[in-house]
Amino acid sequence: MNEKYVLIHDENRCIGCHACTAACNTSNDLADHQNRATIDVKGPYLIDGELHYRYLRVSCEQCDRPACIKACPYGAISQTVDGVVSFNHDRCKGCLMCVAACPTGGCFYNKHAKSTDNCDFCMKSRVAEGLQPACVTVCPADALIFGNANDPNSEVHKCLSTVLTYNRPVGYNNKPKLYRVASQVASERRLV
Ligand code: SF4
Ligand code: SF4
Ligand code: SF4
Repeated sequence: MNEKYVLIHDENRCIGCHACTAACNTSNDLADHQNRATIDVKGPYLIDGELHYRYLRVSCEQCDRPACIKACPYGAISQTVDGVVSFNHDRCKGCLMCVAACPTGGCFYNKHAKSTDNCDFCMKSRVAEGLQPACVTVCPADALIFGNANDPNSEVHKCLSTVLTYNRPVGYNNKPKLYRVASQVASERRLV
């Protein structure tokens, strides 16, 4: 069976520190203020006299059915047998058709690479060398889990089997491989 790499962001553990964003920028040689992933901070919400925030990861959803690949006229985006979508900077002509087609803002123009780019779970760099993605490594709250969901012994498999997760709704059946554990406070109070 092929591997199926997934990333899980636990909104209950996340403290919104943005260490993941900073590590991604450095690890992937991105220009200032450019990131393959960031955290959208919602709130504050005043609940029972306390301030609460909701932290939403914003990055490529790693769709199983990627609109970006279909949109690219130059074949510059590919998907491995393990399902990971990544951009080929040498083939990209910068037409931004992928950016227009992506329903989640998951890809962007990388100023250093002079090409569009996405979060590829650090597959071509760190994971290829047996490391975890940069964001996962630096997270001080253990809010990010990465691994092969088809491995029954993996942490991601155990999490997906035992914890209720959700994917970002995008209006069509894109089947993301970025999973989220919903903020309990947000779920109970129906916060957006
Ligand atoms: S490093 Fe971890 S705790 Fe900090 S914002 Fe990123 S996911 Fe959340
Ligand atoms: S989120 Fe956007 S960039 Fe990422 S795989 Fe899906 S369509 Fe492509
Ligand atoms: S997996 Fe790698 S590319 Fe994706 S957000 Fe984390 S550090 Fe950035």
